[in-house]
Amino acid sequence: MATPKIMLTGDRPTGRLHIGHYVGSLRRRVELQNQGDFDKMFVFIADAQALTDNTDNPEKVRQNVIEVALDYLACGLDPEKVTIFIQSQIPELCELAFYFQNLVTVSRLQRNPTVKTEIGMRGFEGSIPVGFFTYPVSQAADIAAFRANVVPVGEDQRPMIEQATEIVRRFNHIYGDTLIEPNIMLPDNQACMRLPGIDGKAKMSKSLGNCIYLSETAEEMGKKVKVMYTDPTHLSVNDPGHVEGNTVFTYLDAFCRDEHFGLYLPDYANLDEMKAHYMRGGLGDVKCKKFLEKVLNETLEPIRARRLEFQKDIPAIYDMLRRGCEDARAVAADTLADVRRAMKINYFDDEALIAEQVKRFAQD
Ligand code: ATP
Ligand code: MG
Repeated sequence: MATPKIMLTGDRPTGRLHIGHYVGSLRRRVELQNQGDFDKMFVFIADAQALTDNTDNPEKVRQNVIEVALDYLACGLDPEKVTIFIQSQIPELCELAFYFQNLVTVSRLQRNPTVKTEIGMRGFEGSIPVGFFTYPVSQAADIAAFRANVVPVGEDQRPMIEQATEIVRRFNHIYGDTLIEPNIMLPDNQACMRLPGIDGKAKMSKSLGNCIYLSETAEEMGKKVKVMYTDPTHLSVNDPGHVEGNTVFTYLDAFCRDEHFGLYLPDYANLDEMKAHYMRGGLGDVKCKKFLEKVLNETLEPIRARRLEFQKDIPAIYDMLRRGCEDARAVAADTLADVRRAMKINYFDDEALIAEQVKRFAQD
């Protein structure tokens, strides 16, 4: 029998979702859902992981669970096709993470570049919470518990998927083939792998406050586009400009399609022509930003409208999540039964065990 194709991915409920999530992972999930060639798709809200660095702010996590769920539905995730669930409601994930902790060393975790950056960002250097430090292990458990082989994520997640693969491999090596090795699915466009924030500095991140949110109004977004980082050496329109490291062009790389030029900026046939003009000099930032705003609005307008519709029936969203948690829990429980059997801790469902022990002690 062919291995089933199973997709899993998730987001931390630390804020509403932003356009970095959209191009990094969300857009891909919706495409995969609509193509329909996965046997099973799981998308989860990683509340337990969010609590590893928001320990003293559970209210923030609680409020954002519903925000993330609304963003999912607004982007087109369909709960009929994708199981949407909340991490903390699946205790089997903690159990698997606990066993996984023995399969990884402290020094290996210390080498994880994403965790290193995140420790710096959160000022955790002197006092790293153990749960935060080991969240890649818990993430490996999330993936393995659902036997996911495809994980569509942004580039910051590459070290996590590598870590998960190593853990699964080690588990299978010690306890016998039980779990499935995951594969990362990165965006095919460089700009989408790690979309920068509007400040142009780091990646767009809820924790850094440099985001364009999927749910903000066109007016709020317009204000952000106006102050967006461009090319500091491009002082007047006629100066030659740089497109590398220029946030406006990075966002255009992520969102713009050729047909947008016909619709909103017929001076050029495509983005390459527009970039060439910017680099030569003679194309001003204001014009570029106006175009970007139109391009973004084209994608975001339907998402905003759908969100407003879903917001009208909040109890239905919690009901959808509850059903998702029930379905997900059944799947994780099934994997954990295999894990316990492989690890020889299935004392009460192994009929041969007692007979074996009877024989062993009869010999004494
Ligand atoms: P936090 O700051 O709380 O970690 P975040 O904005 O980094 O929040 P996550 O929930 O950690 O968001 O990430 C969810 C998914 O979105 C992951 O697959 C991640 O790779 C992807 N992602 C997040 N930010 C970006 C970005 N700027 N560009 C591309 N993908 C991103
Ligand atoms: Mg993150």
